[in-house]
Amino acid sequence: MILDSFRIDGKVALVTGGDKGLGQGMAIALAQAGAAVAVTSRSGQAGATLEAIAAAERRGIALAADFSTTEPIDGVIKQTVEQLGRLDILVNNAGIIRRANAIETTPADWQGVLDVNLTAVWALSQAAAQVMLLQGGGKIINIASLLSFQGGIRVPAYTAAKHAVAGLTKALANEWAGRGINVNAIAPGYMATDNTQALRDDPERNRQILERIPAGRWGTPNDMAGAVVFLASPASAYIHGYTLAVDGGWLAR
Ligand code: NAD
Repeated sequence: MILDSFRIDGKVALVTGGDKGLGQGMAIALAQAGAAVAVTSRSGQAGATLEAIAAAERRGIALAADFSTTEPIDGVIKQTVEQLGRLDILVNNAGIIRRANAIETTPADWQGVLDVNLTAVWALSQAAAQVMLLQGGGKIINIASLLSFQGGIRVPAYTAAKHAVAGLTKALANEWAGRGINVNAIAPGYMATDNTQALRDDPERNRQILERIPAGRWGTPNDMAGAVVFLASPASAYIHGYTLAVDGGWLAR
């Protein structure tokens, strides 16, 4: 039956940056839909996320990883498979933003954003696909952005990286669609997390943003739940290389 095709019982998901924000919301949703979930965080702690996964009666583990280099990636994939038995779903969520005028953006800011938001996404996808291809398939869900489509304000490295994530999503989908892996992305709109705290703290920017969102409110981590479960489940079997906006209608304007 159709609703059964949205279930992911017995599957194993890995969510990077799952200790807070959108990653936490998605990790909990995947557990509620049936998956065991490994979450990474820089500290190796993910207490609130693990509690919610346990409340959904699914297994959860926390792994320490700093994706400013690719060094921890093989270990994260290996530990997930060793501890949870397999790897079916990768959510490339960990990301950073650095706000500065283009003229003042330093080489370190530029490289730092590219390393976490793009290079790690690529390397995690490649490492996860090696497992998924042997298993006969899987799901890779990249967290893109409205700035995969638009230029943004004072975030040149972030915009470049998120445009690249949308392109990488298509490139990997083209290669792996015929081998059982769905590669897709979600483009969140303006979501209330630490990533956007500076915008909400600025009354003028906050007002401008809210006025432009057709839904009239900031998104929440829970707003990601339906989209991530859909893209992680058999219900999305024929969807490849697509970036789905969860944005309260922002891109429709
Ligand atoms: P957040 O700051 O609450 O969470 C970011 C997560 O990434 C945290 O778990 C953090 O530990 C992890 N992370 C950051 N740097 C890392 C590193 N070097 N190594 C490992 N993990 C690292 O922000 P969020 O809003 O939940 O962001 C999650 C994703 O959603 C990001 O990719 C972000 O670009 C994207 N996004 C957010 C919004 C928004 O409005 N909040 C909009 C579009 C896209």
